[in-house]
Amino acid sequence: MRVLGIEGTAWAASAAVHDTEAGDTRIFTDAYLPESGGIHPREAAEHMRGAIPTQVATALDYARETTPENRPSDDPPVDAVAFSRGPGLGPCLRIVATAARTVAQRLDVPLVGVNHMLAHLEIGRASAGFDSPVCLNASGANAHLLGYHGGRYRMLGETMDTGVGNAIDKFTRHLDWSHPGGPKVEAAAEDGAYVDLPYVVTGMEFSFSGIMSAAKQAVDDGVPVEDVCFSLQEHVFGMLTEVAERALSLTGSDELVLGGGVGQNARLREMLAEMCDQRGASFHAPEPRFLRDNAGMIAVLGARMAAAGDTVAVEESAVRPNWRPNDVPVTWRDGEDV
Ligand code: ATP
Repeated sequence: MRVLGIEGTAWAASAAVHDTEAGDTRIFTDAYLPESGGIHPREAAEHMRGAIPTQVATALDYARETTPENRPSDDPPVDAVAFSRGPGLGPCLRIVATAARTVAQRLDVPLVGVNHMLAHLEIGRASAGFDSPVCLNASGANAHLLGYHGGRYRMLGETMDTGVGNAIDKFTRHLDWSHPGGPKVEAAAEDGAYVDLPYVVTGMEFSFSGIMSAAKQAVDDGVPVEDVCFSLQEHVFGMLTEVAERALSLTGSDELVLGGGVGQNARLREMLAEMCDQRGASFHAPEPRFLRDNAGMIAVLGARMAAAGDTVAVEESAVRPNWRPNDVPVTWRDGEDV
């Protein structure tokens, strides 16, 4: 099966072609980078409006050019169109959905509405070959732990306020550093030393607002910015690692998979890998192109959903800006029930 995936929940206007037989995924992305401040929903939507048609056309050209020789010549270049239906910024999602509906109707192939957070999870699970991992989604707008049970991914724990990437980006905006802030904090942390900052974990819940205010204050008080960046990473990633370990312990799982753009951070991956090593669990983080927002993960999960018959009629395909991953009936895991 060949599937066109389209992603556009916030900053990445992205289209991809996934070929299940070849096990190959080709991703095309045009990123929105705000000139100042963080992501502005209106500017992001304007970027999507211009960039999505181009990325989709490029991906479809690629699908045509790489059509396998044994594929009947009158078949469409892809067998289904998958799109990120939510969660995300409403104006961006609507542009993506309109593009997906148009292509699906023109090619007369099924439409698949994919939950963006489950795509972040499933791309790691698929590449690791894990059965039933705990998943830590550490992305811009989210920070949560998911585990599969009885036909759904259950929310095991989550941030009580902002997503982890957004929290870091708010701190770097205070420093007038350009978006995205995460890679800049990672670079600055290399030369830093430890200072105390608030650490807030309550059972399976955690919070970033206190630490971000304290980090801004520390910089204003003259603490070297490298020390604040180093300590921010140690505290924030320590919180995520503690809760991930508790999730492994409570579920009895011995597999942890990482998803989301903050997962590109080497220190976070190092902490999680070390924790898993100490308790005899396996850890997997997909390659960076699949961690940050990308249409490849939408195409990969879309292919599994399409194979399970989990498609959506155009007239029922309204976007879901607040779609929580634990509200999605999991149709694609039949036969591997845990
Ligand atoms: P979501 O997937 O929840 O909708 P999102 O759309 O913001 O989130 P992602 O691509 O998953 O997108 O993550 C982007 C975030 O990742 C940004 O906040 C960015 O600062 C952060 N990030 C990127 N690289 C790094 C890094 N090396 N270290 C820490 N954070 C990083």
